[in-house]
Amino acid sequence: MGVFERMAEHGHEQVIFCYDRTTGMKAIIAIHNTTLGPARGGTRFKAYQTEEEALDDVMRLASGMTYKFAHTDMPRGGGKAVVLADPSNPTDKPTLLRVFGRFVQLLAGRFGTGPDLGTSSRDMACIAAETDYVWALDETHGGTGDSTPLTAQGVLAGIRVALGHVFGSPALDGRRVAVQGLGGVGAHLAELLVQGGASVTGADADPDRARQVAARLGTALEDPDRLYDVECDVFSPNAVGGVLSERTIPRLRCRIVAGGANNQLAGAKDGWRLFERGILYAPDYVINSAAPYAVIGAGELSYSAERLAASVQGVAEALGMIFRRAQVEGRPTADVADRIAEERIAAAASLRAMADGTGARRRSG
Ligand code: NAD
Repeated sequence: MGVFERMAEHGHEQVIFCYDRTTGMKAIIAIHNTTLGPARGGTRFKAYQTEEEALDDVMRLASGMTYKFAHTDMPRGGGKAVVLADPSNPTDKPTLLRVFGRFVQLLAGRFGTGPDLGTSSRDMACIAAETDYVWALDETHGGTGDSTPLTAQGVLAGIRVALGHVFGSPALDGRRVAVQGLGGVGAHLAELLVQGGASVTGADADPDRARQVAARLGTALEDPDRLYDVECDVFSPNAVGGVLSERTIPRLRCRIVAGGANNQLAGAKDGWRLFERGILYAPDYVINSAAPYAVIGAGELSYSAERLAASVQGVAEALGMIFRRAQVEGRPTADVADRIAEERIAAAASLRAMADGTGARRRSG
């Protein structure tokens, strides 16, 4: 499939291929939809098997950001970037990221970025040497720092709403939660769950990290491969994407799936698989949507501490609406979340068309 066909398939506005001959820096920036505002999304630094794989990844992630922002009150659209890590290229990572920053600057704010897989707040300082459009720098570089505490608070609020929907009470006391991934988000979440009285079983692919967190919080540990089989109220993915699949969904012994990881569903059918098993799924990009407040809200938009804290309540309200509508319509929550985002974008697009007269011109032919 050609690039334009791929763009047409999911409605991407712009895909920018960036190459610097001197350093060998290769990057792709995908701008999915700017109806609600300029595109924002993280920059991945990753070794891909093929350029097609990198293109697919960046386009998929950019559209995910559009949907995520559409469930917030932040005037931003969806974008993402990947810098292709190439072990045969002798140029160091800080230089590659700095050169990448020049390309970001050329877009004059139409795309802005922050950390993602393979990039840290510290790496953002390299990009910031060349562009004004980067956020979530580490605190020593005047940035907003770690986004995981606010993300975890949003996930906790989402878990409570899901508990209320399924069991009639949002109380954590006595609830059993299986937490997959005890990294930045997962460890904070596990701590909040324990404080709330829940009984947590954690798992992490890094055994040292798993033991450390479990010892600190006094939680149970499970082998990462066996966590899907643990009997619990909530299964909470906070590690990698694609964990809810044809293979894992039949194994789940929970009533709710609610966690902070991005792209939890392996494929489009997996939302239906959860629905058919009677498992309430909190759509990932909604339950983890406090994260962009911690980055873009705190950085670019200079939101107050009160407004950032309110994003947690925003997660709860957005999920409550999705759960109710999914129940009324008899559809999976993942489907309903996508529809709500698409309706908001379509409404904003038609308002804009009315304002600038392009809608009227189109109608009159
Ligand atoms: P992290 O790298 O700090 O933690 C991820 C943890 O998952 C690591 O400890 C890793 O060892 C573990 N892990 C990897 N594969 C695993 C597996 N199969 N089973 C169990 N554990 C496994 O990352 P993070 O910042 O905590 O992010 C976790 C997830 O949340 C990611 O999907 C990320 O995209 C998403 N997310 C993060 C933020 C944020 O603020 N950092 C915001 C929104 C979404």
